[in-house]
Amino acid sequence: MANIVAIVGRPNVGKSTLFNRLIEQRSAIMDNESGVTRDRHYGYGEWTGKYFTVIDTGGYVTGSDDIFEGAIRDQVKIALDEASVILFMVDCHDGVTGMDKDFANIVREIKKPVMVVANKADNQEKAFMASEFYELGLGEIYTVSSANGSGTGDLLDQVIKHFEETGDENPDDGIPRIAILGRPNVGKSSFLNVLLGKERSIVTDIAGTTRDAINTRYKLYGKDFIITDTAGIRKKSKVKEDLEFYSVLRSIQSLQDSDVCIIMIDAQHGLESQDLNIIGLAQKYKKGILLMVNKWDLVEKDNKTLDKYRNDVLAKLAPMDHVPIIFTSVLTKQRIFKAIEKAVEVHENRMRKVSTSALNDVLLKEIERYPPPAIKGKYIKIKYITQLPTYTPTFAFFCNLPQYIKAPYQRFLENKIRKSFEFEGAPIKLVFRKK
Ligand code: GDP
Ligand code: GDP
Repeated sequence: MANIVAIVGRPNVGKSTLFNRLIEQRSAIMDNESGVTRDRHYGYGEWTGKYFTVIDTGGYVTGSDDIFEGAIRDQVKIALDEASVILFMVDCHDGVTGMDKDFANIVREIKKPVMVVANKADNQEKAFMASEFYELGLGEIYTVSSANGSGTGDLLDQVIKHFEETGDENPDDGIPRIAILGRPNVGKSSFLNVLLGKERSIVTDIAGTTRDAINTRYKLYGKDFIITDTAGIRKKSKVKEDLEFYSVLRSIQSLQDSDVCIIMIDAQHGLESQDLNIIGLAQKYKKGILLMVNKWDLVEKDNKTLDKYRNDVLAKLAPMDHVPIIFTSVLTKQRIFKAIEKAVEVHENRMRKVSTSALNDVLLKEIERYPPPAIKGKYIKIKYITQLPTYTPTFAFFCNLPQYIKAPYQRFLENKIRKSFEFEGAPIKLVFRKK
């Protein structure tokens, strides 16, 4: 399951300040062009090796009183549906307000972990005042200052306790879990319909049309695989922005639950910044990646078009040029099988274990030919390499001065591994240990 932390609370308590502190800067997967909202409302964070997505639900409250009631419900609904932990934020300066009580009443109904976060506890005195929030009847109060960061570490220590332990394990006996991601209207539902062989979900020309969420195990073309939750969008929400928001959240969940992400683009539009953001997120979460350029039937082509298109896309993807690219038409069913086959192959690459002897045979020669540059007059000697028994392919390099192996050389090593062994589309991690 995806780890999603939602921040709720009335306006001005400091939700977006905390949000910005929890997420890695510039990491929001969509930008202002997305049309979702004006500023960012979700991003991802990491705490002691646990990754999570943070939602700032506050952006949906625009302040006008008449819509406020509804806005509260919308926020909480989003939190209810999607979050693993809810941070209910209040303000130590103001103490308990009527609106806090309204929020508390709704939040109390939610059968999910709720943590009361008393913000603006910038000093001891303010922190002491936070005890009045026990009156909300929601248990422990976590005092923080989002502005200066104090208390946020203790808060996160508690937050991650609520995460499900999926970690590095694939619970389905190695059957690849595939997420199909992409902007609205690229053809995701149509693709699923072809896989299902029947009109299971509604496909229309209108971006953001309601669809079923599907999470299905397949045996097709001789391959076993699971499609994790799709671009399914809720019907009930009337607001277009909410539809987009839901669809993004579901994409994040489906991405987190997968082994391999098929990132689908529309051939007519090419690779856009938002696609790159999703690819970045998939990379961040160490997923296998396959790029599917769909609606290839709509592109006018000669015998050079495909190569040119591929090179243009690769240039935008750099340095991630190990991502396989498949040109499809869901409409004419061109290379649909190939796309699935490739996704399964990426998963196999992701599971690949290279023997220590094969690794050392290949890499020690390369390293001898092009050794790591000496730093401060010290020679760096890599003695041997072994692949660790982890879910994500991880290679440990044992050397005398691990701290001196810098990023460019690490990239060189990664490229050599990719060149010599089959890791197309798979994430790779390198670690350097002292020996
Ligand atoms: P939101 O409406 O709940 O998202 O609140 P914001 O994050 O926009 O913050 C509202 C105001 O509170 C801003 O002026 C922030 O600078 C301020 N603020 C946020 N966190 C703190 C804090 O920990 N201490 C203090 N003193 N001010 C804060
Ligand atoms: P989604 O929003 O990504 O799920 O996209 P849909 O599956 O709803 O597809 C959007 C529109 O694109 C529909 O009208 C589809 O019929 C059309 N479409 C999907 N795949 C292809 C394709 O390969 N070629 C063409 N020409 N149209 C396609």
